Amino acid sequence: MFHFDNSYTRLPERFYASVYPEAVEGPKLIKFNSTLARELQVEAESFGPDADENRLAAIFGGNVLPQGAEPIAMAYAGHQFGNFVPQLGDGRAILLGEVIDVNGKRRDIQLKGAGPTPYSRRGDGRAALGPVLREYIVSEAFAALGIPATRALAAVATGEAVYRETPQQGAVFVRVAASHVRIGTFQFLAARGDNDGIKVLADYVIERHYPDLKAEQNPYLALLRGVAERQAKLVARWLGVGFIHGVMNTDNMTISGETIDFGPCAFLDEYDPQKVFSSIDAQGRYAYRNQPGIAQWNIARLAECLLPLLDTDEEKAVEAANGVLKEFGEWFQAAWLSEFSQKIGLSGHEQGDGELVQQLLGAMHKGEADFTLTFRRLGDAVTPEGDAAFLTGFSDGVMEAGVTVKAAVMQWLVQWRLRLERDGHGADKQRAAMRAKNPAIIARNHRIEEAIAAANYGDFSFFERLTSALEKPYEDQPDYADLMVPPTVEERVLRTFC
Ligand code: AMP
Ligand code: MG
Ligand code: MG
Repeated sequence: MFHFDNSYTRLPERFYASVYPEAVEGPKLIKFNSTLARELQVEAESFGPDADENRLAAIFGGNVLPQGAEPIAMAYAGHQFGNFVPQLGDGRAILLGEVIDVNGKRRDIQLKGAGPTPYSRRGDGRAALGPVLREYIVSEAFAALGIPATRALAAVATGEAVYRETPQQGAVFVRVAASHVRIGTFQFLAARGDNDGIKVLADYVIERHYPDLKAEQNPYLALLRGVAERQAKLVARWLGVGFIHGVMNTDNMTISGETIDFGPCAFLDEYDPQKVFSSIDAQGRYAYRNQPGIAQWNIARLAECLLPLLDTDEEKAVEAANGVLKEFGEWFQAAWLSEFSQKIGLSGHEQGDGELVQQLLGAMHKGEADFTLTFRRLGDAVTPEGDAAFLTGFSDGVMEAGVTVKAAVMQWLVQWRLRLERDGHGADKQRAAMRAKNPAIIARNHRIEEAIAAANYGDFSFFERLTSALEKPYEDQPDYADLMVPPTVEERVLRTFC
């Protein structure tokens, strides 16, 4: 079973509320991630291939509390779409406890949708099957892509209905995170003028996520820098796979640097930097291209919370925080350039590489090119034989300069190959490097919706097939060829819901 070692409950009581999961009517295991379970060092007889599914469902559905669990709901605040809410907190998530994984890392195990907590406000504390499956699919897809994110340990159907616009089947999602401390956790304390609490929390996250910073002259400034750097790099990775988080509220941004809260998130099909999918993001605040700016804005909110720890002199504290915000921009720019340089097969850097990437993106936008397939196929165009196939990915648009998109792409390919030559690794190596960087398969919205629709009728086979396909995103998998193609016009998903 779990070897719990719960550090968060050793923090001051005002940081959380103790609360038990509420038992559900008919828990039934949907999926269990035994690979992750092994990584978390949970005991084999409970969780191995022979594990009793009913027992797993009872534990992960919240009906049986595993030994050593100390269930709590964490308190936090947050800016939601720019508006500050001084108290949010886990309204439908219950932290069972923490375990130490095979790499010595502390990981949280949380049940999402396990019943009401003191922070539920008017919510029911529950989750619907659809969003649980989406979170399962996308978090595991992120793991396979190698992008920091919370993980999926299990999903359990509750056998109960939850009422959203319509009645839906209920489910519990079992989330694993480096921790669930968010920018909003600091904001909760700051909003109460709780400077002692902020120091306790800062010391806690330094110990847990940034232990090397303890030796720094100003560990709190180093913490702010550390979070900013990880988030800048994370957002560059999102942009590199065409990901739109959808709800980058400060309560959905971790201190650890993991992506969290896969709600109305989506991957781009055709490239459009202004793309928004989320039904609740009417203003487009969290559009694809706005994400770095929003992440920086969120870091500014964290900086405000940490000001009292940065310097006893307020002016100096503000100056230090502003320095970090400026650095955020630089870290992001460098990470973005590195990400997209790799995507076009470059290992070195030259003046003009950023423009080269932007020219391709510009043509992709005008030519309504599929983000994932364009980069995947570019690997086959390292020699001109691949040009014709590559061009089929672009529609017959016209660029601002008056040239057709296809002519612009042809010109671009010539420029790009000259640049590749200067990079000097040879076609075979460059092709291989690009295949290792550009996924063939991503969790496309229409496929996620298809998996959810079938699951709502009790058929989980497509959900299983999709999660299997997403385990090896950088490989060509002929068995899953149908999952790699973009949606037809009729299949397109325009809106996502959480
Ligand atoms: P989210 O949009 O998922 O980041 O959630 C924002 C806040 O609403 C958090 O405090 C959640 O715990 C809370 N919340 C979301 N859905 C529910 C629900 N069904 N019941 C109670 N609280 C919820
Ligand atoms: Mg959230
Ligand atoms: Mg959510």
